Amino acid sequence: MKFYSLNGKSKPVNFKEAVIRGIAPDGGLYFPESITALPEEFFHGIATLSQNEIAFRAIEQFVSEDLPEHALSAILAEVLDFEFPLMEIEENVAVLELFHGPTMAFKDVGARFMARCLGHFSKNSEIEVTVLVATSGDTGGAVASGFLGVKGVRVVILYPSGKVSDIQESQLTTLGKNVVALEVNGNFDDCQKMVKSAFVDTDLLGKMQLTSANSINVARWLPQMFYFLFAYKQAKKKGKEIVFSVPSGNFGNICAGMVAQQLGMPVKHFIAATNINDTVPEFMKTGHYRPKPSSPTISNAMDVGDPSNFIRIRKLYGNDLETLSKNLSSFAFTDSATKKAIFKIYEQSGYIADPHGAVGYLGLKTYLAEHPEFYGIFLETAHPVKFLEVVEGTLGIHLEIPPQIQKVLHKEKKSIKIGTYIDLKDFLLNR
Ligand SMILES: *Cc1c(COP(=O)(O)O)cnc(C)c1O
Repeated sequence: MKFYSLNGKSKPVNFKEAVIRGIAPDGGLYFPESITALPEEFFHGIATLSQNEIAFRAIEQFVSEDLPEHALSAILAEVLDFEFPLMEIEENVAVLELFHGPTMAFKDVGARFMARCLGHFSKNSEIEVTVLVATSGDTGGAVASGFLGVKGVRVVILYPSGKVSDIQESQLTTLGKNVVALEVNGNFDDCQKMVKSAFVDTDLLGKMQLTSANSINVARWLPQMFYFLFAYKQAKKKGKEIVFSVPSGNFGNICAGMVAQQLGMPVKHFIAATNINDTVPEFMKTGHYRPKPSSPTISNAMDVGDPSNFIRIRKLYGNDLETLSKNLSSFAFTDSATKKAIFKIYEQSGYIADPHGAVGYLGLKTYLAEHPEFYGIFLETAHPVKFLEVVEGTLGIHLEIPPQIQKVLHKEKKSIKIGTYIDLKDFLLNR
């Protein structure tokens, strides 16, 4: 299995090289040359398979040239050591909880998988890989935790000063070892721009192997399909056709669900729910893709004005808007609608949703209103405690802080303040 660049100007590479490079030399995202559906028996018998068996079968074809069976099994056993429960909160509406990992966000799955792949690849090699990542909140924590202590890998995280929550900041600034946090005087777009500049800076590329741990990296993106399959395993017994609603920012998560669909998983439809950063909902309405600067919201992990993975989604459906529309609907919601949803969900079912999950819920309800025959699953992408002020303020209740968060809260924060790209370059070259 090779991965080719969606810009079409770089040569196809195997999984290992795609992971180490992150992005193709021509600036394109890597995309698998083929996706072979799994046999029908796999889906018939999925209830009898373990999480690890399901994940192994799903990802095997993409990685097997570079990860022998035993290495892949060992990696999956470490990555998937927590649960992905599906809970029905209303008739035909279930929530898939993705926050039971170490940093309580779904990004733990992709970040841990990628870290262990890079660790495996650097085992018998001299090269040190520098993982450079910009975060608006959750990515940084998941990457810091996933890569902590991985030999041969240095991790540099850029985050916007004062614009991530206290818990998120603790998660990415207190670990130390091979993880460095750079606190940028600016917003998330500034962080992202600096990272993009570094990837095309020939002074840097000649001296170090730089890669990205954002969802553009195939090793972060693809494993996200696992929990769509775990959800299918749990929902299959309902005997109804299934739709997934995914709170979306960079559209990596939903795109991985669509890969599971291409593997043959029976899914009737996907719903991409966004906050007011509505580039994709607008595209689905008008057929025009118009990226814009991001606007801040209470679901800040989705404040993205130019979602990097949307190009992969278009590719998956043959770059055809009609085919895409059959499989995807997209709706945008304001902060005030999101808070009302958090309140309504709690009032009706006692369930506490975080702002991202609440956006997913709204997307699902909007779609189900027109299509009541389906069974709907929305993804709860982070634990509500990570958005403490909003959730406590909206519900007027006090949330308990879980132990894995407590652990980092009182540790000493260590970050290096930077202002411009020159500062970043100086850090990378000289530290
Ligand atoms: C990253 C993130 C998202 C958005 O996921 P994408 O793959 O970028 O679409 C949604 N919710 C939470 C909590 C996140 O951290």
